[in-house]
Amino acid sequence: MPADFFAGRTEGDDEIMRGDLSRILYDRTKDDVEYLFDDSLTELVDGADGVKVTFEKAGTRHFDLVVGADGLHSNVRTLAFGDESRFLHEMGYYACIFSTPNHLGLDRSERLYVEPGRTTNVYSTSQMTDAKALFLFSSPKLSYDHRDVAAQKKIVADAFAAGIGWEVPRLLESMRTAPDFYFDSLSQIRLDSWSRGRVTLVGDAGYGPSLASGQGTGLALIGAYVLAGELAAAGGDHVVGFANYEKEMRAFVEQNQKLGLQTVKQMVAPSKAAIRMQTLMLRVMPKLPGSKAIMRKVTQIVHDAANGIALKPYVGE
Ligand SMILES: Cc1cc2nc3c(=O)[nH]c(=O)nc-3n(C[C@H](O)[C@H](O)[C@H](O)COP(=O)(O)OP(=O)(O)OC[C@H]3O[C@@H](n4cnc5c(N)ncnc54)[C@H](O)[C@@H]3O)c2cc1C
Repeated sequence: MPADFFAGRTEGDDEIMRGDLSRILYDRTKDDVEYLFDDSLTELVDGADGVKVTFEKAGTRHFDLVVGADGLHSNVRTLAFGDESRFLHEMGYYACIFSTPNHLGLDRSERLYVEPGRTTNVYSTSQMTDAKALFLFSSPKLSYDHRDVAAQKKIVADAFAAGIGWEVPRLLESMRTAPDFYFDSLSQIRLDSWSRGRVTLVGDAGYGPSLASGQGTGLALIGAYVLAGELAAAGGDHVVGFANYEKEMRAFVEQNQKLGLQTVKQMVAPSKAAIRMQTLMLRVMPKLPGSKAIMRKVTQIVHDAANGIALKPYVGE
């Protein structure tokens, strides 16, 4: 199926790999922003006129405000708000992704292989020399050391060991020597408030919608834009700025988190019957009269969520 038929993506959409986006953002800001690599925070002390921040390596410094943009397992969130178990909601699925040789010769396309509770996806986007292999599976809560990559690879290999065909064994073999590897539960972050005193959260740290929503990067970038805009509009008054940031963003975030909860059920089919139904729909749908309009309607929810906020121009534009 062409991507615009399936309509998760439409004309004018660009797909940018996370590493490329990081590089772009870094290049555009490195002359104005001080970056401290390979460091982390050990303590935050919020005071009336600033935050005392202790780094693992860079000692103690004072800042007017602290913005935690350190992802799903945010350390800033733990230091300022408490243990992650209070905010991280697991969805009952696990995901693994790594780079793999593009032996299927994919060019801006993807292949899906589905078994009950287990989905394998291989794709290659424009200007990518290799391909990405994504494994998704439903599972009760697993316990593992998040630094033990070998153990995580074994979890994935075991989950896909029995009754799996197609290219999966070859992909799993390539996982052993993959140059990169990601493994985690599909989880959402939910907090009653994203700010506490002079500390606030942006992106996955504050409101991760899970990879199933496909909107986490959008939320993170828009969140940063709205936070900066509202702080500027409030003349730097963080109490007003933080409150308005949340007021502007909350409904948009909730819409995208709802999307994540709905989408994951389509990404991992629960039974053979569900797979048969899904496959039949995908085969028949393109041949039906008005199929494009039907598909658009089905996926309208994604577009509504992605565009579910009207961005203000803020000051200085
Ligand atoms: C497999 C997969 C597919 C995805 N697909 C999509 C998609 O198609 N579209 C989409 O929009 N989103 C997608 N997402 C989600 C998206 O990647 C995230 O929502 C997005 O990266 C969140 O951005 P962020 O800046 O909030 O956090 P992150 O990108 O996680 O960045 C956090 C940064 O903080 C750093 N950090 C973490 N802890 C510490 C610490 N203790 N000390 C110092 N630094 C620290 C990390 O190194 C990292 O650089 C996907 C995610 C996954 C895993």
